[in-house]
Amino acid sequence: MIPIKPHAYAELAQDFYNLQNWQGFDSPLLVVENAELKKELGLENIEKQKLLDIFNGSLSIENLRPLSMVYSGHQFGQYVEQLGDGRGLLLGQIDSSEGSVDIHLKGAGKTPYSRFGDGRAVLRSVIREYLCGEAMHALSIPTSRALMIIGSDEMVIREKSETAAMLARTAKTHIRFGNFEYYHYNKKPEHVKVLADFCIDNYSTYFSRTKNIYEEFFRSVVKQTAIMIAQWQACGFNHGVMNTDNMSILGETFDYGPYGFMEDYLPTYVCNHSDHQGRYAFKNQPYIGLWNCSALGHALSSLISEEAQGEILQTYEEIFQSTLAKLFREKLGLKQDQSEDAALIQGLLDIMESEKLDYTNTFRNLTQALTNKITPELDSAVAKSWIVSFQERQTKEGLSLDKKVISMNQVNPKFILRNYMAQETIEAAENNDFSALETLIIILSKPFEEHEEFQNFANKSPAWAKDLEISCSS
Ligand code: AMP
Ligand code: MG
Repeated sequence: MIPIKPHAYAELAQDFYNLQNWQGFDSPLLVVENAELKKELGLENIEKQKLLDIFNGSLSIENLRPLSMVYSGHQFGQYVEQLGDGRGLLLGQIDSSEGSVDIHLKGAGKTPYSRFGDGRAVLRSVIREYLCGEAMHALSIPTSRALMIIGSDEMVIREKSETAAMLARTAKTHIRFGNFEYYHYNKKPEHVKVLADFCIDNYSTYFSRTKNIYEEFFRSVVKQTAIMIAQWQACGFNHGVMNTDNMSILGETFDYGPYGFMEDYLPTYVCNHSDHQGRYAFKNQPYIGLWNCSALGHALSSLISEEAQGEILQTYEEIFQSTLAKLFREKLGLKQDQSEDAALIQGLLDIMESEKLDYTNTFRNLTQALTNKITPELDSAVAKSWIVSFQERQTKEGLSLDKKVISMNQVNPKFILRNYMAQETIEAAENNDFSALETLIIILSKPFEEHEEFQNFANKSPAWAKDLEISCSS
């Protein structure tokens, strides 16, 4: 028995999706399977080959109702009337110990929403999505994850000719802000209500049911979005395409495209080379998160008064700021909340910016500053004076040195996914060598551990990778 069942979404009326089958590959190839996730989903007894056959469509599951969803959204601030799953299908759902999980297949062929696209995804982009999902999950950031990548010999054209691949992914939901926008802008308030009711019925474990359920739903989206973005900021993650069609209503990071983890600290960092205005720059993410929430609020205006929306949107900033402050305190090994902490954190960020320090490694090596060792990053005169204030602040904390070091190492990763690492892995995989991919998964899924044998992956990117331009096509 394969526990993938039809998705509850397929019970909605036909205007919400298109029921359809998908196009597997003639010569499917197993690139990678996520054994850990498979186990979490209770699929461990299904052998690899069988799972591959299922996702490739060679082995059908009875009564499954795969569907492509229709949605729209604001892309780079502009409303786009119709988007939708142009190359992905919601296959179904699995009841796991964590609740119900969506199974989605990306790169599954054309749908009515493909527009000019070929319905496929390239191996390069699904590997990047797979790696980032695992990296974010290991950093405790809510995210979609990947269960399997299936490669092929099918060629598709992007900037160059590349092989197509499919990614089976999991997420708590695939409902985006853009699903609501689609019905709102098409003047179908009754559909907005149906969709909101669907979310309330299916995802009520994620928010409290009180008197005004629609307001509570919106309040929860705003809250989860603020928390998610605070977590991005704390680990230096730049999403790159924060369009409203890429925003999950349950605050999970998803639709990984040209994302990047910041290396040298630079608030104006833009990972997406086609984002010429820098709309989705690292420092803009918190504001864009709020902008997107207000776009969702607008789409819910048939259910929530403007006044209530305004009140709910106002909660965003406080949630974002307090979450980020807490995360930064943890990164500095501080348990207590003291008034001087904001200045202390800002002081460190300023040094990182002016001295072009590696964000991840500076935090990771802060434990050395606790014991008066020279940290490889903080060795300038300004940095040394910052360390003095840091040590003074530490004396107000009761914890022993050993405990501080342990707690800091649990929140400051030694490893992040640097672009060049993904790139080298992709190049090997394009030549059918998946060993580098497996290695990277080991490191990224336990980024707080030392992994002495992989020390080189904790170093700053090599010089050749400095100007590496990641193709944004996918
Ligand atoms: P994304 O940049 O992946 O978030 O995609 C934006 C929109 O374009 C979504 O509606 C996608 O389904 C669609 N899309 C992207 N790539 C393709 C493709 N190769 N074929 C069809 N639709 C695509
Ligand atoms: Mg998208």
